Amino acid sequence: MFQKILIANRGEIALRISRACREMGIKTVAVHSEADADAMHVRLADESVCIGPAPSRESYLNMQAILSAADVCGVDAIHPGVGFLSENAAFAEMVEEHGMTFIGPTPEHIRLMGDKITAKETALALGIPVVPGSKGAIDVAGDVKALAEKIGYPVLIKAASGGGGKGMKVAQSSADLEEALRLARTEAKACFNNDEVYMEKYLGHPRHIEIQLIADTHGNVAHLGERDCSLQRRHQKVWEEAPSPAISEKAREKLGGIVVKAIKKLGYRGVGTIEFLFEDGEFYFIEMNTRLQVEHPITEMITGIDLVREQIRVAAGLPLSFRQKDISFKGHAIECRINAEDAETFIPSPGKIQDYLTPGGYGVRVDSAMYQGYQIPPHYDSLIAKLIVYGDTREECINRVRRALHEYVITGVNTLLPLHRALTEAEDVIKGEYDIHWLEKWLALKAQKAAA
Ligand code: ADP
Repeated sequence: MFQKILIANRGEIALRISRACREMGIKTVAVHSEADADAMHVRLADESVCIGPAPSRESYLNMQAILSAADVCGVDAIHPGVGFLSENAAFAEMVEEHGMTFIGPTPEHIRLMGDKITAKETALALGIPVVPGSKGAIDVAGDVKALAEKIGYPVLIKAASGGGGKGMKVAQSSADLEEALRLARTEAKACFNNDEVYMEKYLGHPRHIEIQLIADTHGNVAHLGERDCSLQRRHQKVWEEAPSPAISEKAREKLGGIVVKAIKKLGYRGVGTIEFLFEDGEFYFIEMNTRLQVEHPITEMITGIDLVREQIRVAAGLPLSFRQKDISFKGHAIECRINAEDAETFIPSPGKIQDYLTPGGYGVRVDSAMYQGYQIPPHYDSLIAKLIVYGDTREECINRVRRALHEYVITGVNTLLPLHRALTEAEDVIKGEYDIHWLEKWLALKAQKAAA
């Protein structure tokens, strides 16, 4: 097992990983930017190294600085967390070249799935159903209109290197196709320095269902069931639950089986998530994330498996500590993403946390690096806390989410707490009847009512 791990991340996810390390008796090295010197992930690590100024590209994305810190501290592995360098194949390669273990899949698999076009082709070849769409990238000089007609409107233009919902534009008809294409390519170029795009049928009322999987280096693969992340705004997840209120045990087993078979064939190692859209009883692959996911805790709550611990174990070459037959799903879990944003305008709200009181009690877990007096820097993602709640049934879980949100106090900055409180009162949410478009429609309706 590793003696010392460098965690190349910040905030709640860095803390999540360092918690697993401490429980496993592994020493941790935190890295941080100048803006994060007082951060909780730094305070709770065994050692820490400042790797650069506040902007991410000069610190958390600065591969050389991170590798130097790893060398100086003598670590034997690097955990990239989520975001930042977690899906950067070149970084994974450099880590291995430096004689350390990258806690993640091989650089080849990161690359394969990082390009959404090759990912889709690979999925298809592995027997996973995909969203109907263009074969590979769109030839912008070609007859794009004919392609869209063939797929059938509305169509979605998506960036090959996409992530975080960026570089994605809908065309309702041929009238707005050109504009959608132009906007998607401009955004893709700006965000990913790659304006390659592809086209997909735009699904009208799907749910976002993703399957968590884990593979060791001994040929064992298991799936840990699904998460329903349909409550989204601008293609970004806001509230997640496991299991999905819309999936039967039979559908879960079928999809899990397809995924496990595909992952075995691929020879993948580590944790991963395959994302699907689910509409009218059919599943369609959209992408695979070759890393830990922000919403992994809800899977932990219903399976009783510490995913980060397992991830570290398999990276160290140990076999999975369970088999598929050992996994059973118990109860229901919900995660509310608490962002430092205005709950109506979603404008980020960095600043100083005045009062901070977390909820507690049976079935309540808060993954966060916040504390009273903490200054949220304006440079990073606005996710500041995840409220994760477990209940024996979905109804009990929602009642507990409502209760926990009632206790949660964060003052000094705006947060999404009021939005989540309102969601626990929304009839469709209570019934579990929502698709990926539901939240935006509901927000628009609420804004309309407030204006009237
Ligand atoms: P990203 O990597 O940017 O997160 P994804 O491919 O995972 O992009 O898609 C993000 C979200 O965008 C999905 O969860 C879904 O809400 C929406 N989406 C993606 N593809 C489609 C599609 N073909 N039809 C309708 N919505 C889609």
